[in-house]
Amino acid sequence: MSKALKNLVHGEWLTPASPDIHDIPDPAAPDTLVATVKYTTPDEVRDAVKAAADAFPAWRDTPVVQRCRILFQIKDILEQRAEDLARLLVTENGKTLAEARGDVRRGIEVVEFAAGAPHLAKGEFLEDIASRIDGYIYREPLGVVAGACPFNFPAMVPMWMFPVAVALGNTFVLKPSERCPATATALGELFTLGGLPPGVLNIVHGARETFEALVTAPQVAAVSFVGSTAAAKSVFLLASSQNKRVQSLGGAKNYLLVMPDADLENTVSAVISSTFGCAGERCMASSVLVPVGPAASIVDKVVKAASALTLGHGLDPSTTMGPVISAAHKKRVIDYIDLGLVEGASLLLDGRAVTVESHPRGFFVGPTVFDHVTPGMRIAREEIFGPVLSVMRARDLDEAVSFANASDYGNGASIFTSSGGAAREFRRSIQCGMIGINAGVPAPMAFFGFGGHKQSLFGDLRVQGTDSVEFYTRKKSVIERWFGFGPTGSTWAK
Ligand code: NAD
Repeated sequence: MSKALKNLVHGEWLTPASPDIHDIPDPAAPDTLVATVKYTTPDEVRDAVKAAADAFPAWRDTPVVQRCRILFQIKDILEQRAEDLARLLVTENGKTLAEARGDVRRGIEVVEFAAGAPHLAKGEFLEDIASRIDGYIYREPLGVVAGACPFNFPAMVPMWMFPVAVALGNTFVLKPSERCPATATALGELFTLGGLPPGVLNIVHGARETFEALVTAPQVAAVSFVGSTAAAKSVFLLASSQNKRVQSLGGAKNYLLVMPDADLENTVSAVISSTFGCAGERCMASSVLVPVGPAASIVDKVVKAASALTLGHGLDPSTTMGPVISAAHKKRVIDYIDLGLVEGASLLLDGRAVTVESHPRGFFVGPTVFDHVTPGMRIAREEIFGPVLSVMRARDLDEAVSFANASDYGNGASIFTSSGGAAREFRRSIQCGMIGINAGVPAPMAFFGFGGHKQSLFGDLRVQGTDSVEFYTRKKSVIERWFGFGPTGSTWAK
């Protein structure tokens, strides 16, 4: 029986009052319901924000080492329950089990990073900035932070946000993706079990309206958002208009350049996992392959390797590629494949009519490869977010970089080469935030910031790493002078 998900407010699990129930189907087997969810009304959002605001003073006053001890307990619980989380994640999102384990692992790594808050949050002190006057800077938490997440990393993206926020003394209200809310709810249960006091982490389910009510709640001081560019821009403008601190990560269109001197065998396997891993639903997925000159010989090899992928349910060990998230998203991806044909690209591998015998109703799209894609085509410019690769052949490195730099997005890009000079030139001239050199998915680890340039990030600070410490704290500087002791005044001893 599917689980009716509840909100977490002040440590209690509450069912939203709305009469409307939204189904969360298994994307590989849509007749199986994983969960149901109701969307939170503005009044209920206010209650959750109040719970977070009420919890803030005591949590802020809790010594940072005590907060982190709780995170260590939570980290242990997450390790014990990682496999359950990964299996749940497969059923609501459609990833393979290996991909889901990676999603959970990346989230746990952020908890590990956050547990270093005593060191990360230290300030600066300089004695005698003038005669017997000291200067120092220290960090304090912001208060209540709100976060909203996309469907594609149901464990990692929520954990990009609240572990660091709460380690640094903030309280948090999370709005999970309305399409994959079960994993985030399970995280709420585990963080509560690990000892987070009531109100420190709250969860409200819903869609755009719920999050807008959160962003505009007066006690919310800062907003962390990850999703499509249209939504990221809208959230950024809404939060900024209220003078709230905001980091808003958007969509992507990632280019993968292959030089003639690349190690082709390793490059093919990197292209396959970057493009078709997570069914292409990764903000770091490569979606445009740019072979330079004779490197175009890679195209046939990529098509052959992509054809060998096995579609199926993520819990089936033989599956190497799962479904996309929904029927609507499947239609959107297929519409883009139709569009590529209309635009005149050559369809080398067509995933539109794929069938999966064991799961005939699943939202599957097979691996798809277009060749001879040109810069003006929409399939070269727009985010498809599915297992579709566009090949754009380039004459030289400069032309290949110019294709990538013409993109409105600037999340990630990679080069495959055995030339240090080419790699260095690429690194310097490519306009994006996360760069791979002989690496297909250059996603930074938890202790480095994660975020792009251009339309892929609105705001200055990335998630994870020291940027996240900057984001979840604000600084106070103090000039301190004491009269009395020392050469300038009297002391008790005198
Ligand atoms: P989405 O934009 O549809 O939804 C993301 C979240 O935003 C959800 O919680 C949704 O309820 C909420 N939302 C949607 N529109 C909103 C609005 N106008 N105002 C406020 N909230 C709104 O994205 P999705 O389809 O769930 O996720 C896929 C997208 O996320 C892709 O574009 C992908 O590239 C992007 N993404 C980016 C990163 C990154 O690091 N840059 C990471 C993961 C996913």
